Amino acid sequence: MMNGYGESAFVCDGCQVGVLLGVYTEPHNAKPGFFQLADAVKRNWANQPLSKSIWKFLAHHTGHPVGIRDAGGLRDYLLVGRDDTIESYINGWPSGAEEGSPR
Ligand SMILES: [Zn+2]
Repeated sequence: MMNGYGESAFVCDGCQVGVLLGVYTEPHNAKPGFFQLADAVKRNWANQPLSKSIWKFLAHHTGHPVGIRDAGGLRDYLLVGRDDTIESYINGWPSGAEEGSPR
């Protein structure tokens, strides 16, 4: 359940790790709701390193219990964007032949 006020994160509760998404803005005037990192220069949707971190997270936690949580209640979780940098998390990923593949 999103609170709509604090920072939220996309997390795996099984591994207690996640990616910080920022503050959620409710849908308004037929525009969809969205998350935005407070200190980011770009909007989340245009933030390629953030996007890549989400894809890596999904690839590594396929089949795990994932969801969006209030980041304030995740003191024991390792969060990319809070406890680790996005650049460090995606460094070298994906590796090898899969990079650049359209499939
Ligand atoms: Zn996991």
